[in-house]
This record gives sequence, C-alpha cells and structure tokens, in this order.
Amino acid sequence: MSDVDNKDEVTKAETEETKENLHDYREVGEDGQTDEEEYESVCFACRRPERITGKQFKLPNNICICNDCMHKTMDTISQFDYQGMLDPDMGQKTSGLSMDEIAKKFPNINFVNLADLKGAGGIPNRQKLKKKKKDAAPALDIKNIPAPHKIKEQLDEYVVGQEYAKKVISVAVYNHYKRVATNTMDEIEIEKSNMLMIGPTGCGKTYLVKTLARLLDVPLAIADATSLTEAGYIGDDIESVLSKLLAAAENDVERAQMGIVFVDEIDKIAKKKETTSRDVSGESVQQGMLKLLEGAEVEVPIGAGSKNAMVPMTTINTRNILFICGGAFPDLEEIIKQRLKKTTSIGYGAQLKDLFDNDKELMSKVETEDLRKYGMIPEFLGRLPIVYTLDPLDRELYIRILKEPRNAILKQYKKLLELDEVELLFDDSAIEAIADKAMKRQTGARALRAIIEDFMLDIMYEIPKDKEIGRVTITGDYINGKGGPSIEIRRG
Ligand code: ADP
Repeated sequence: MSDVDNKDEVTKAETEETKENLHDYREVGEDGQTDEEEYESVCFACRRPERITGKQFKLPNNICICNDCMHKTMDTISQFDYQGMLDPDMGQKTSGLSMDEIAKKFPNINFVNLADLKGAGGIPNRQKLKKKKKDAAPALDIKNIPAPHKIKEQLDEYVVGQEYAKKVISVAVYNHYKRVATNTMDEIEIEKSNMLMIGPTGCGKTYLVKTLARLLDVPLAIADATSLTEAGYIGDDIESVLSKLLAAAENDVERAQMGIVFVDEIDKIAKKKETTSRDVSGESVQQGMLKLLEGAEVEVPIGAGSKNAMVPMTTINTRNILFICGGAFPDLEEIIKQRLKKTTSIGYGAQLKDLFDNDKELMSKVETEDLRKYGMIPEFLGRLPIVYTLDPLDRELYIRILKEPRNAILKQYKKLLELDEVELLFDDSAIEAIADKAMKRQTGARALRAIIEDFMLDIMYEIPKDKEIGRVTITGDYINGKGGPSIEIRRG
C-alpha cells in the first residue's frame, strides 16, 4: 500500500502550481457513478489515463488496470498459468460476478477484495481523471515560441524587478524551444540552454521558473539538491527528478520530455573541501547529473517514486528537457572579491583593496572560475552554459511585490473581501510597514505572505460578522500593533 501512498504524494508534491491546468480529480461516488463523457479511467497502478495506456481492464469495484501494469504484475507473480486473465474481454466476462464467483474462475489465484481495504485507508477513491479541456491555450505556445521580448512581457506581469534575469531566461527559453520545435537540438553546435541561477533566498528564483512553466504550459519538476545522493545511498537518487517530471506530466512521456526541471539549493552539492570519505551527496551528485544535463535515455518507473518489480518502466530522453539550477551560494562574494583584488592590486597598489567591500553588484561579476573555487566541478559547469544572478530585494521591490503582480497578495485579499461586498484598502503607511517588517526577517519576499496572513486573520474573521461594514482601511499603525484598522459603515 505504501506505493499507492507514495504515488499520491508525488503527484501532489511539486505540481501544485501547474495542477489546475493539468487535471482535476473528481471522486467516484459509492455507487461508482461518474459522468463518462467528462471522465476517463486511470490505471490503478501507474495512474496513467486511458488515452495514454490504451484500453484498460475494468475490474470490479471501479478498478482499472492498464495492459502494461497487468502484464508486469503477472510477470512478477507468474510462473503459473494465467488462465485467461489477460483476455482483453475479461472485464466483460467477470462483470456482474461477485468476488467469490470470480475467485472460482481462477482457482490458483488468491484474490484480495480491494473494497475491503478501503477502511484501512489504502485504496484511493479517485479512479477517474477529468478529461483535459482542449480550450485553454497556453499564454506562450512552445510549438510556435514567441520572440524573447514577448516572453519577458508575460513574465513582467508576475515577476517584479529582476530585469536582467528575466531577459536572460527569455532568450534562453526562446532558443531552447525553437530548437525543440524545429528538431535541431543535435544539428546546431550550440550548447543546450541549461541555466544556473544565483541569488539570495526568497528573491524569486523558484517563482520565476514556476511562472515560466505555467505560461508555457509545460510540466515542471522542482527538486532539492540536498536530498539527492549517488544511487545506492540513503536519499533520492538523481533520476528521481525525472520521476517527478513524469508525474507532473500526468505520466505522459512526450510531454515530460518537453518539460523543465528546476534543481534548487545547487550550492549544497559543492565538492566538500576537507573530506577523506566518499562525497556521496556532493561531488558524486554533480557527476551523476552530468548525463541528465547533456541528454540521455533514462529508465524511469511510471507512476511511482522508486523502481520496483511491480512498476512498469518507461524511457525518458532528457535531450529536450530544460534544466535550471538555482542556489544562494553564500560566501561566493568573498571568492569573487579575492579574485578582483588580485587583479587590481597589480597595477594600482594595495590601497584599492577595499574597493569591492561595498560593491552591491559584486555577485553579478561572477565567473566560472569563482564557481569552480566554490566547489562546482568543471564538467558540471560546462553543461550549464548560462549563468546569471538575481538581485537581492530592496525596500522598493518589496513594496512593488506587494502591489504590482497580477496575482499580488494584496489584490488577492481585496478580491476575497469583495465577495462579501466589503472594500479593502491598504494605505501607503501600511504597505511600507509590511515591507519593513519583511526586510527584518531576511527570508526574502516569502516573509510578506506570512506577515499579511498574520494580521489579516482577525480581519477575515471579524468582518463577515457585521453586514453593516462597507470599507476597511489597513494602516501602518495597525500593522505595528498601535491601533486598529479604520472601518466605515455602509451607506444607505
Ligand atoms: P527563492 O529565490 O528562494 O526560490 P521564491 O521564488 O520561492 O524564492 O520566492 C518566494 C515567494 O516570494 C514567491 O512565491 C513569490 O510569491 C514571492 N516573490 C519573490 N520574488 C518575487 C518577485 N521578484 N516578484 C514577485 N514575487 C516574488
């Protein structure tokens, strides 16, 4: 049963953002009735829908199994006669029969009534998948990828600041998908557009990639480099990132092969400096990632996080998958500074040595040499040809993040209260106070949501109580705990 749970987790985990576009589950009622027009069967074992697996076996209790999984299971437990179990009409022949009657037809097989397991919390109810709506066209079509400035325009609506990063990513994505669409990935001698993003925590690295994947409507897998280890050691092996991608693509291999993999915290797999033992979570992970980054055929289990005898396998080619690595690289500034100091002190003397101490742009002067010193191996860096930095957020950016993006958090709350016909306003002092508080936490823009949720809890609880309230204005004093929000009563 743990496998089933596992599958559920994987589908749930990294795909949150793209899920709404991808699929929409509906529970099958007790009687198993669903609208057949709108819903299609999903294999109980690998979770692939019928349109991908081909016709599935319909077992009693609304359980469907695809041909691959049926064969795989049978191969595993086999060495005995199938007794006609693989007959595609088996579903029909057994429909309407009770479990006991079916069991009598296959005397050598020990049947478990899956319905009995429901109470044990084992079998998920969701056995049907809503058919994907054809209408919603993606904002950016990868088959006919728009020019880089159009891609950036779309990103601008969601991601504030980070102009340079948005420009670089737009060009890289444009080149990448143009080559995928024209199938010239191998022909042109240009390196694949894999990227390395450097920027402090909470400055929008993950958000930028998530937004991009949503606009392009491609599956996205987000992996954490710290959890990866060389195959055979405790931790996830490197290929597990492709399982995540496959899950995000609803187990559709074609779609997965066009997807994006984001590996966060990449600085944590830098080569360990003083170590005598085997570096299974550092240098070895970098080594292991080489072939994925470049393009390789990798065997991946369908619908499960790990390989095991019961799960069918498929092959994913990573040639067209865009890999983006991100990390904060603390202490990298020091390495850059050392390098710059060395070069300047040659001509101008030692008094210039402090020149770079207050340089805000220092991080953007990063070169491959610095990253190598940091502990990234040359082969790994060679496969991430596009390196760029994101700026740390300043007060002005915090304020813009609160107000400007299409899905800005203040806009979301305003919309929410609008449903209760209450107007919610934030005056300038409130917005500045929120930004100041967030800056103190030093966790980047992530802090904004936490702070707002904190004080909005009371408002969201109290306001709907009183139908007379027409407008609420949040002030700086309220944020700083020095007073209440200003409340106006509905007129007329
Ligand atoms: P990290 O750089 O650590 O990956 P995230 O991308 O997860 O940080 O950012 C955390 C949250 O902060 C995002 O979900 C997003 O809502 C917000 N955020 C961060 N930077 C920006 C930005 N430049 N524009 C808009 N929102 C941002």
